Amino acid sequence: MTINFKDYVASVSDFPEKGVTFRDISPLMTNGEAYAAATDKIVEYAQSKGVEMIVGPEARGFIVGCPVAYKLGVGFAPARKKGKLPRETVSANYDLEYGESTLYMHKDAVKPGQKVLVTDDLLATGGTIAATIKMVEELGGIVVGTAFLIELSALNGRQKIQNYDIFKLMEY
Ligand code: 5GP
Repeated sequence: MTINFKDYVASVSDFPEKGVTFRDISPLMTNGEAYAAATDKIVEYAQSKGVEMIVGPEARGFIVGCPVAYKLGVGFAPARKKGKLPRETVSANYDLEYGESTLYMHKDAVKPGQKVLVTDDLLATGGTIAATIKMVEELGGIVVGTAFLIELSALNGRQKIQNYDIFKLMEY
C-alpha cells in the first residue's frame, strides 16, 4: 500500500500566531504504519549516502532521526537548547522571527570524518538546520545529506543550505 503522507499532516491555521499555518506532524507519528513508512523512506535515502551518524535538533529532529538511526544501526546525537547538555559543548546561533537562539552539541558527539545525516521534521527558513550543520562541521563531521518530513518551499530555507543535499517527503 502506498501512503499519502499529507493525509497524516494536520494544517492548523493561526498557530502559534495569527497568519501562520502550522503543519502538525503528530497524526503521522501516532499512526504506526505511516511513521514506519516515513522512516523507511529516510532510511533508504541515508543508505544511499553511506550515513554513519545522525544528528537532529531538539525536539522533532529526534522524532525523525532516532528511528532511522536504530534501523541503520548507527548513532544519534542531539542538538539541544541552552542548559540541557552536561558536558563540554560547541554552539551555533540562528535567527528567529524575533531575536535569535542558540543550539549546542557535545564536543564528542561526532567523530572527525564521520558521514552525518542531519534530520528535522520541517525545513522553514533553514536557520535551525544551518546551525546544526555548522556544529557538525566544527566537530569534523561530513554532512552527506539532510532529511525532512516537510519543506515549506515559500520560505526558501534551501537557500541557506544550498551546498547540501536535501531529502524531503512532502512540500507545501
Ligand atoms: P527554520 O529554522 O527552518 O525556520 O524552522 C524549522 C524549525 O521550526 C524546525 O525545527 C521545526 O520543528 C519548527 N517549525 C517551524 N514551523 C513549523 C511547522 O509549521 N510545523 C512543524 N511541525 N514545525 C515547525
